[in-house]
Amino acid sequence: MRAIVAILVATGLFGFAAESQADGDFRVTLLGTASPAPRVNRFGPSTLVEAGGQVLLFDAGRGVPIRMGQIKVPIGRIGVLFLTHFHSDHTSGIPDVWLTGWLGPVFGRRQQPFRVIGPTGTKELMANLEKAYALDVKIRTEDEKLPPQGIAVVAEDFQADGVVYEKDDVKVTAFEVDHGDAIKPAFGYRIDYNGHSVVISGDTRYSRNVVKYGTGADLLIHEVAIARPELASAPFAKAILAHHTSPQDVGRVFAEAQPKLAAYTHLVFLSNEQVPEATVDDVVAQTRETYGGPLEVGEDLTSFEIGDTVIVHRWKQ
Ligand SMILES: [Zn+2]
Ligand SMILES: [Zn+2]
Repeated sequence: MRAIVAILVATGLFGFAAESQADGDFRVTLLGTASPAPRVNRFGPSTLVEAGGQVLLFDAGRGVPIRMGQIKVPIGRIGVLFLTHFHSDHTSGIPDVWLTGWLGPVFGRRQQPFRVIGPTGTKELMANLEKAYALDVKIRTEDEKLPPQGIAVVAEDFQADGVVYEKDDVKVTAFEVDHGDAIKPAFGYRIDYNGHSVVISGDTRYSRNVVKYGTGADLLIHEVAIARPELASAPFAKAILAHHTSPQDVGRVFAEAQPKLAAYTHLVFLSNEQVPEATVDDVVAQTRETYGGPLEVGEDLTSFEIGDTVIVHRWKQ
């Protein structure tokens, strides 16, 4: 009950249309759909899942507070942050979410500890961030009288596939993926709520585990990487492409898992001084070589309402 009231209060503060509650209570929003490349229109990898009044964040790339401000969900309301792996494009936004979510204005006001769940290394990462920002925390505690419990960190490591979070009707299951031999740990997540499910691949090459956990999901969100043929054999491109999934291989994953809706996030477009990036149309065309089902290419703030059908909303200013 308290969670529902909190939504209504937050909505009221922002003058948010009542539509957001009436639409149903399982919603996924792509906050950032890029890779490390700095872009104006695609921020760092991060996906927001709202389910049954809970607000869960999957990875915290560049710009999370800005995107959450656009959709008027206070960052202070994030209940748990889940990490897929430790590449900086997925974690560089953590201090911003953690520290800014504690501040006094309406976008913050976190009163509970900041909870982070991820593979082994998560506790260490958070302990080191606490050290890095100790002076800011001390200063703001004394100067702004912000509540100490709102900046406390509760971090949890997991090591293998399994349920890593369960509260009320929301269940989150982690599963190992294949981001390359040197990039371990690397995990994806499946979120189950109210008889529906959403699967996030994390960063991976073609992975049987994504097919396993993604089979029959309402929404399967997958990463993808692409380079024009004349660039694909350059050493730097080869190395990056070996850590990610080609559109044809993602198409295989989608074809095997048969989700109600398949969607792309974390689009890796490679280029150099001579060879420009491939395009979204190229990604779609190459996916269509192996997959003929429903497909969306995510943009920042593309959102999905998960119910008996999956409804896609594109962001409009
Ligand atoms: Zn990445
Ligand atoms: Zn990565």
